[in-house]
Formats: sequence, structure tokens, C-alpha cells
Amino acid sequence: MSQCIFCQIANKTLPASVVYEDDLCMVFMDIFPIKPGHVLIIPKTHGGCLHELEENTRAHLFSVANDILQAQRTAGIVVDGANFLVNDGKAANQHVPHVHIHIVPRDKGDLLKVVWTFLTRMLNFFGKDKKKAELDALAARIDAHLHRPLLKQVHENETFST
Ligand code: AMP
Ligand code: ZN
Repeated sequence: MSQCIFCQIANKTLPASVVYEDDLCMVFMDIFPIKPGHVLIIPKTHGGCLHELEENTRAHLFSVANDILQAQRTAGIVVDGANFLVNDGKAANQHVPHVHIHIVPRDKGDLLKVVWTFLTRMLNFFGKDKKKAELDALAARIDAHLHRPLLKQVHENETFST
């Protein structure tokens, strides 16, 4: 699906702040983060909803999502918890029709801030897309704490601060 923006990210025709990728999936920073460290995990092959994916791909996405959250924890990004979210279908508020798991890091007491950011993040008046350099730095920081032996390192030559 060439017009699908997440397919374009997967085949590198659209830039993204990539945290991790392998044969089946890609992880990148959400361009309108609800919280710092908000990432998306996508399959590299197009599927609109979870049931359209191969069983092993579906399982792999959640396995990688779990490892990403652990990496965020050791990188000090996730303090208290996280939301794993899949909007599966248009009726469920899915805006990009290519399967994606959101991981939204959470702190105790951040509910009002999260609700406000969720409601305003895509509006030109109140929200703003995070600067690419800032998202690239966070992506590199998460990747540096990721322990997946088969992972393809995408940030080998980058430096970061913790
Ligand atoms: P959903 O509403 O579950 O379909 O979520 C789609 C998510 O994709 C939103 O959180 C957007 O901020 C995010 N998004 C849209 N375009 C891009 C992009 N080019 N790069 C990164 N994230 C994106
Ligand atoms: Zn797609």
C-alpha cells in the first residue's frame, strides 16, 4: 500500500525517528507524543487490523513492545507505568489504517496532563510536532538500552545522554 504512511515509513520513503527494526517490525517515535517516549510498533507488511496479520507477526509485535518498554524503563523514560494501546479499526478511533501498538509512558498523577495533550496534540493552535532532533535523540537512547540479540542496530554511530 504505497499511499499508507506507515508503509512508507517501513520502506524508508518517509522519514521517522526509528528506535528498532527487524524483518517483521519497526519501532519509531510518535510524531505527536502524548508523553515523552511515546512510540509506535508496526508490522512491516501492511495490515489494517490485528486479525489481518500472520499469527507470528502479531505475537512478535507484542514481544518487541514488551522489550521496548523494558528498555524505556532502564533508560529512565518510564517512571511508574505505561499504556499499551491498539486502536483496532476506524470505529475504535484508529486514524492510520496500518496496525500499530502505542506505548505511552506514564507517571503517577499525570492523568490531566495526558488527557489535555491527547485532546490538543494535533491541533495547530495548541499542539506541536516534536522536533525531529529531539525525537531522534530519544529513539537512540531507547535503542541503547534494548537487549535483543537479533536486533538490527540503527544507531550504532550515534551518541546520546542519559
Ligand atoms: P491512531 O489514532 O491509533 O491511528 O494513532 C496514529 C498515531 O500515529 C498518532 O499518535 C499520530 O501522532 C501518529 N503519527 C501520524 N503520522 C506519523 C508520522 N509520520 N510519524 C510518526 N507518528 C505519526
Ligand atoms: Zn501500511
